[in-house]
This record gives sequence, structure tokens and C-alpha cells, in this order.
Amino acid sequence: MLNADQWFTEVDDANASAFGLKGRRVHAEQTPFQHIEIYETERWGNLMVIDGCTMVSTRDNFFYHEMMSHPVLATHPAPKRVLIIGGGDCGTLREVLRHPTVESATQIDIDERVTRLSEQYFPELCSANDDPRATIAFDDGIAYIRDAAPGSLDVIIVDSTDPVGPAEGLFNVAFYQNCRRALADDGLFIQQSESPLLHGPIFKAMADAMRDAGFASTTPLFFPQPIYPSGWWSATIAAGHPVLPAPRPEACKPFAETLQYYSAETHQAALAVPPLVKRLLSSG
Ligand code: SAM
Repeated sequence: MLNADQWFTEVDDANASAFGLKGRRVHAEQTPFQHIEIYETERWGNLMVIDGCTMVSTRDNFFYHEMMSHPVLATHPAPKRVLIIGGGDCGTLREVLRHPTVESATQIDIDERVTRLSEQYFPELCSANDDPRATIAFDDGIAYIRDAAPGSLDVIIVDSTDPVGPAEGLFNVAFYQNCRRALADDGLFIQQSESPLLHGPIFKAMADAMRDAGFASTTPLFFPQPIYPSGWWSATIAAGHPVLPAPRPEACKPFAETLQYYSAETHQAALAVPPLVKRLLSSG
């Protein structure tokens, strides 16, 4: 018998399933944008939950943060100017700043409280926040990219919550058109694209919308993320050219000993598209 006071449980009514971690809640607050909770778990370290959905745990965030940053940065030929939309826990920013080619990395999250709580409960994710190449600002990513100078970015990473609430406008053609305009010709865009198993229609609609916005190609990446629904997650890279340049995983060699999931092999493995996803993407 589970004691509800000792467990965080994310119930997924649509899929008649639930995910739980044993631990206790140590913080909860309603910000102007969302409801944030922090749990201290027994085996997974700290856990951040936004609007009832798991975001980051100490134990497994490396899967997501490494795969949101290194594949795209190791595919762009020379990434210098990087924008992260969302990502307020600062874990993606830390990974981006491991790349010596990066000259500036700007993180725009709508909710300052996510970053302040991350500084308190996930200090390791914030260890690069004082890097002179980093800019951390709090704004709506939708408005920020609308006003960005054309061709001013090499890589845009959208590390957002699900397409509801403040993140809803980060998943449509108008937003993707603005991202396309803000990127240089050889620029690359990547966005977390949910679970292909549980959120197939969203996953496909995102790729369709990226191409409708003028991106010539979309390339999905697949990786584990144990605390997210189904444990199987994805990101989608969009590019102005029809075929992505070959990955240069050697770009990550200088800091390879800091990595837990990304490698030349896992990069290749993440690009393999399973039959169920091929069928999903080619469906009408
Ligand atoms: N890894 C997580 C996932 O896939 O569930 C995402 C974690 S990250 C903490 C998500 C961030 O997106 C939150 O901090 C939230 O404040 C931010 N966000 C949501 N909508 C946004 C918007 N319109 N502009 C900028 N940031 C936004």
C-alpha cells in the first residue's frame, strides 16, 4: 500500500497510467505563470514539477539536457550564437557552454522563479550561469523571437514545457517562422517534441508546422527520459537545408569526460527512426 504523503505521483488520465517517485514535498508556489513544486526524493535526488508534470530530477536530467544541446551543436558547422527559449533550470545552458566555439548563449525563460528555485535545489545545473558568455533574462520567448534581428542566431533550442499554458505559442507556424527568420542561413533549430508513443499527433504536427514555416527538413532524435511520461522522449531538429550536415561528435571531445549519455554512438543511435514513427510521420 502506498502512502500518498510519501510519494509524488503524476497521473496520466488519458493513458490510464501513473508515474511515482518516493519522497516528500519541500516547496510549492503559484507564480504568475505556473504552479511549481520541489520534492526531495529517496533515490532520485531533487525533483521539480511544473503544473503537475515532472521537469527535472537530479538523477536523470542528463539524458534530456545532453540531447537537447550536443547533437544540434555537433551538427552545426560552427555554432557561435545560441538562444535557449525556456530552459529556466539552466541545465541546457550549462551543456551549451561546454562548447568552446560558442561565443554567446542567451537563455529566455518566462518565469524567473524556475531559475531561482533551480539555483537553490539544482545548483549543479546552474554552475555555468556566471560564464561571461551567458545571458539569462526573463521574458516570453514568443515575443523575444518576434523581435530578434534577422539572421542573428546560429542555433535556437526550445526547452519548454508542454504545449499548454505559457508554452502553447511555442508550437505553431508563426513561432517557427520567426525562429527561421532569426537564424542565419545555415542555422539550426531544435525543440523538445514530447513522447512519440503517447503524444504522436503533437509530435507529427510539430514537424509539419516546422516545414510549413519554411524549414526544408525536420530530423527527429530519440532518447530515454525515465521521469517523463512513457520514459521515451524526442526532440526535433529543423534546418533550412534539405539534408542535415554530417554530425561532428568530435566537437564534444574536449569535455567528453563530463558526459553521461551523449557520445558519437548515442548520437547515431538517436537518429534511427523506428517503423512506428516512420508510419506516423508519413500518415496523412
Ligand atoms: N525539460 C522539461 C520538459 O520537457 O518537460 C522542460 C523544463 S524547462 C524548466 C521548461 C521551461 O519552459 C519552464 O521553466 C517554463 O517557465 C518555460 N516556458 C514556458 N513557456 C515559455 C515561454 N512562452 N517563453 C519562455 N519560457 C517558457
